[in-house]
Amino acid sequence: MTDQLKTTLINAGKILYSEQQGDDIFGHVTVRLPDDAGHFLMKPHTFGLEEITMENIITVNLDGEKTAGSAPRHLEVFIHSEILRARSDVQAVVHTHAPHAVAFSALGRPLQPVGHEGSVFCDGLPVFDETTDLIVTQERGKSVAKALGKHHAVLLQNHGLVTAGRTIQEATMLAIHLERACKSQLMVESCGGATRLSTPDDAKAKQGRIIPQYASVFAYLERKVCGCGQAHD
Ligand SMILES: [Zn+2]
Repeated sequence: MTDQLKTTLINAGKILYSEQQGDDIFGHVTVRLPDDAGHFLMKPHTFGLEEITMENIITVNLDGEKTAGSAPRHLEVFIHSEILRARSDVQAVVHTHAPHAVAFSALGRPLQPVGHEGSVFCDGLPVFDETTDLIVTQERGKSVAKALGKHHAVLLQNHGLVTAGRTIQEATMLAIHLERACKSQLMVESCGGATRLSTPDDAKAKQGRIIPQYASVFAYLERKVCGCGQAHD
């Protein structure tokens, strides 16, 4: 079970990297251990998203302390530990410095349903604006978790994105779709802003159609990027 989870974590890193969400060695993915809700697996620091291996994955507890693994732990571990502490429904968290999400966060404007991806966030996309600095304390991690609330994602102003999923597949796809949604809106804003958008009813309907397909899309990306797709329902 843990080996399969580690493989999915490794593939999530490769997929996020292939989607241009890598920022050298920064950005991270975590997943809660299915048989131990107080611990989670985490991408190690000093490696790129595409460099996660079975050997360098670390295990961390909800206080942000590394409990297994020899590789260093990311300073921003508290984004993950505090969201996993606050949300028992969340099993996986992604944080990246995705470039369009960072640029969009500087506009100070609400995300609009320009394309299908924007509709996924039609329930609202909160913005954490307490600091633009790294999230290096438990207190700041709690503030990020509070800003996230019950949503799928939160933007960290002038910093990046955070997504929370019921699976690694879901958290990864939310990160990919949020980055694409920010890119779409930046394109529209550069032409003066949208004059046509999905209606709230259309956006909600699309959200309900897209999210259940995330496991299948992730499996496709595994085949495309990693050449080793696993079977998913
Ligand atoms: Zn960061």
